[in-house]
Amino acid sequence: MENLIGRHWHYLPAEEVIDLLDGNPEGGLDLFEVNHRREHFGSNVLTTKKGRGPLLRFFLQFHQPLVYILLAATLITLLLREWVDAGVIFGVVLVNALIGFLQESKAVKAMEALARTMVTEATVLRSGEKRRISSVEVVPGDIVLLQSGDKAPADLRLISARDLQVDESALTGESVAVQKCSRTLPHDTILADRRNMVYGSSLVTYGQGMGIIVAIGDATEVGKISELLSATEELETPLLRKIAAFSKVLLYVILSLAVVTFGVGLLRGQSALEMFMASVALAVGAIPEGLPAAMTITLAIGVARMARKRAIIRKLPAVETLGSTTVICSDKTGTLTENQMTVQEILAGPDLYTVTGGGYAPAGGILTPDGAALRNLPVALEECLRCGLLCNDSVLVEKEGRWIVEGDPTEGALLAAAAKGGLSGQEESKKLPRLDTIPFESQHQYMATLHSVPEENPVVYAKGSVESILIRCHSALSSEGEPLKLDADGILETVEAMAAKGLRVLAFSRMELPEGKKRISHEDVAEGMTFLGLQGMIDPPRAEAVEAVKNCHSAGVRVKMITGDHAVTASAIARKIGLAHGEKVLTGRELAEMTDSELLETVEEVSVYARVAPEQKLRLVEALQVRGQIVAMTGDGVNDAPALKRADIGIAMGITGTEVAKEAADMVLTDDNFASIEAAVEEGRGTFDNLTKFIVWTLPTNIGEGLVILAAVFLGVVLPILAVQILWINMTTAVLIGLTLVFEPKEPGIMDRPPRVPTEPILTRMLARRILLVSGLMLLGAFGLFEWELAAGAGTAEARTVAVNVIVMVELFYLFNCRSLTKSVFEVGFFSNPWIFGGFAVMVGLQLLFTYAPVMNVAFHSKPIGIESWLRILAAAILVMLIVGIEKKFTRRRRGNSKASGSAVISAAML
Ligand code: ADP
Ligand code: MG
Repeated sequence: MENLIGRHWHYLPAEEVIDLLDGNPEGGLDLFEVNHRREHFGSNVLTTKKGRGPLLRFFLQFHQPLVYILLAATLITLLLREWVDAGVIFGVVLVNALIGFLQESKAVKAMEALARTMVTEATVLRSGEKRRISSVEVVPGDIVLLQSGDKAPADLRLISARDLQVDESALTGESVAVQKCSRTLPHDTILADRRNMVYGSSLVTYGQGMGIIVAIGDATEVGKISELLSATEELETPLLRKIAAFSKVLLYVILSLAVVTFGVGLLRGQSALEMFMASVALAVGAIPEGLPAAMTITLAIGVARMARKRAIIRKLPAVETLGSTTVICSDKTGTLTENQMTVQEILAGPDLYTVTGGGYAPAGGILTPDGAALRNLPVALEECLRCGLLCNDSVLVEKEGRWIVEGDPTEGALLAAAAKGGLSGQEESKKLPRLDTIPFESQHQYMATLHSVPEENPVVYAKGSVESILIRCHSALSSEGEPLKLDADGILETVEAMAAKGLRVLAFSRMELPEGKKRISHEDVAEGMTFLGLQGMIDPPRAEAVEAVKNCHSAGVRVKMITGDHAVTASAIARKIGLAHGEKVLTGRELAEMTDSELLETVEEVSVYARVAPEQKLRLVEALQVRGQIVAMTGDGVNDAPALKRADIGIAMGITGTEVAKEAADMVLTDDNFASIEAAVEEGRGTFDNLTKFIVWTLPTNIGEGLVILAAVFLGVVLPILAVQILWINMTTAVLIGLTLVFEPKEPGIMDRPPRVPTEPILTRMLARRILLVSGLMLLGAFGLFEWELAAGAGTAEARTVAVNVIVMVELFYLFNCRSLTKSVFEVGFFSNPWIFGGFAVMVGLQLLFTYAPVMNVAFHSKPIGIESWLRILAAAILVMLIVGIEKKFTRRRRGNSKASGSAVISAAML
């Protein structure tokens, strides 16, 4: 088979391709053959070219302005024969690169792992059965069935196609869908025109088709395009970009300050060497080098936490946007409800029957209008059930004693109802074999199947929404199957009554077609059908959804239900979930008649949208966005893709969603559950909080250290801290204690405050003031105690050791202030983040080493200090923590007052 790899197939007739590949379009390959081929060809995966090798990534760590400065400092200290300083500075550069490298690898790995959890599936024929398998498992020669929403698992030659349209933009960049066929094409047809081929990673946007796999993995056309292969997501978000830009500006400011410092010092007659080292100290101290890495890690951890809550992030910026979401537009069926359908009421002919028994088990039965058990099926009822049974693509299977649906739960409910009426699926489909299908699509709201009837004309069964079925009908049936005049008003009344109970109502119809008909189109069934009846099924609301909607409301996030279902049903379910209380429901038709400005006026008020066509979702998203909302929108079908792309957060369903929808989405829910969206919003807020906490914690250190150096040079006194000492502080604290903030659990009440305004800067005025306060205190503490030691007769080395310890201890204690942005140290729950205590202990240990270990004394020019000095250091650190605590309390009170709410009274009372 080797010679088949890499050849072209479009110019061969389909039969010949099948022959060459030993395929079987009727039954597919058998398992033995599949295993054999898998051994031979391997799995259908693209070998991801590692974007950058580990070595290169390690060296890229040195490609930073700060590192350049440090390397220059190493060189100059070497030239000056300051061996120890040179060694220490270079050592720090190395450690810094190593830490950066490890952190980055961890983040990249996390993202890769997530990418792997997203498996695409494909429908194949194997051993005579249709199977849904992971696309990794397809082998050459497999027969693949395509339908709208699917993603082609590999390159395939079409054997048959019906209105098949395919989006090949992944391959050609052209996003207009291409019509496909199974015709044989000339040899010299270029790739983009090979209409009888569907290439791997193309998305089916319409119709159906069947093809045979001709190439898998790296042998496919996508596999040949190398740029597509680096599957790793880029670790970049708007926020990270903003911070990178901010760091750059900061860098220039600091460098100019360093130059000024150098100049000022020289003018004051200090030595060039000393001033050079002071400038280096300033640069090292003031540049927040740990910031970008901490940001990336925080986001990666956020992504992992969301994954645990069943929300898979496909695009990293979503982590940030989630925290500022103001509106969630959710599907009803399966997302807010359980998607566990059970038929409860049937209208057949003029009679209304009730159905007993829950779930999909065939246990239970049908009761007559007067409550008696049904003995034999009246003709109308039988036809209504038969229609639901035959016009159906799902199956019920018993697994471990439980009956479950393979396919659409709506259809599963119809199968169960038919079974309760005593109809057997196997017998019926043998009696009336299916010839053709018009599959269900949301925009048409119905499905129809054509069946051959022995010795009679073929018959069409159709089921769908009441509206879509009624317009096709001109007659009805009596109980015993006699033709009757259609009483549309009477039917609509029954529909209203069923819908008001929250039942999902489907209508059923049939018609005969002329002899010899083998295919059906929408035109064939446009009119002349006979109405058979209605089936109303319950779909209970998800219990978690009720809680989640409540949380969203208290968090200032509005929830809107957008459904293809009937307005009255939608409204009833919305009321049960607490999402609306019987207010106006807007239907798709009303929506279509509205002008853009009318829509803008109502879009925020209305919470339930019914009978909405997927295309209208896009309009809703846009209207909400014009109104300044940050919109999350769910979807599962092909036609939902534009709305998912347009929404700030497009959310695809992991179970019921098509590959097309997943591809367009920012986030995929593995359990289709609304509660998972709410959980992700919560995590998004928590992640953003932790980013802010890190910034608020780290910046004062940088500014404080910078100020200490500036002050010393401008005052013309000895430097209280040396460049190597600053390096020591920044390297140890950022990693050991700063990063512990990343693991800070979400603050209680995180869903009781309004969403973050995305344009709001990270550093609000309040936080900026806090940062300045702490840096000022740090300057005072370090400088003050340094001078105190000197005045008390200590040597410079001892005084500097004290200054370094002041800075580290202030950072350590200030960390506790930073654990919550608003709450005080004591309210956070002292042991809720064990990492902090680990970091605290290790950091104290390191400082003792720094102060007392002889090696460290040599390397960092430190010297042992006495117990009294320690007491002063501790006093300074605790004082800072208390002052920040008081500052926090005051800001909180002021905020409370300005809100003029009850909380003002409470926080005033707390003081
Ligand atoms: P939703 O998922 O929001 O309830 P859909 O677009 O799936 O909305 O369905 C819209 C309407 O189409 C339903 O109210 C129902 O009447 C009808 N419908 C749903 N599923 C099927 C199906 N498999 N076959 C025929 N009609 C269906
Ligand atoms: Mg649906």
